[in-house]
Amino acid sequence: MSEKHILLVEDEQAIRDMVGLILKQAGFKFSEASNAHEAEGKIKTDMPDLLLLDWMLPGLSGIDFARKLRAMKNTSELPIIMLTARTDEDDIVRGLAEGVDDYVTKPFSTRELIARINAIFRRTDHPDPSTVVSIAGLSLDAVSHRVSVNDKVLALGPTEYRLLLFFMSNPERVYSREQILNHVWGDNVYIEERTVDVHIRRLRKLLEASGHDSLVQTVRSAGYRFSPKKE
Ligand code: CA
Repeated sequence: MSEKHILLVEDEQAIRDMVGLILKQAGFKFSEASNAHEAEGKIKTDMPDLLLLDWMLPGLSGIDFARKLRAMKNTSELPIIMLTARTDEDDIVRGLAEGVDDYVTKPFSTRELIARINAIFRRTDHPDPSTVVSIAGLSLDAVSHRVSVNDKVLALGPTEYRLLLFFMSNPERVYSREQILNHVWGDNVYIEERTVDVHIRRLRKLLEASGHDSLVQTVRSAGYRFSPKKE
């Protein structure tokens, strides 16, 4: 696998130096920018594989920059991890709505940062299609498209299957309806966000008999999460 390129947008030199050191040690190609304008120029000449983006930046803020990148064709899919001192739920919801992939709250540990970055690359590098995902006794085989509980196959419609595949590939994360639409239905389709609720309801109904409906959790004012843990 080729070396992954990470661009850090951060106005504090000390943080740029520290993160640069960590990432280079971890085997990543590292580049840096101190504001959104500079980052945009760098993205144009050398597209990174992932953006680490500080929320509080002089000029265009990190979140406004993220929105701008999502709206541009070349960067609409660029993975973004926000570096933020904010942990307010409102801010996280706002970030998710702008399509930010993940958050790391300052101050963060080296290990946490690298783990978040690697988790994103695992998702974007398309996992081995032969993988069978199993969570809490619920199994999904991505090759045969079979979903089963204790070897009993469940009859899922194609949309419910794709929805479940998405959830089981990305457990423990909250997704807004818009994000679920983009991932499961694709960006180019115009579908109302309410459609997500309809299919979530169907999926829960199908998982009800074995008690797995509780894995599909509603997160108030944010969206949905797939988790075997209690809310
Ligand atoms: Ca800052």
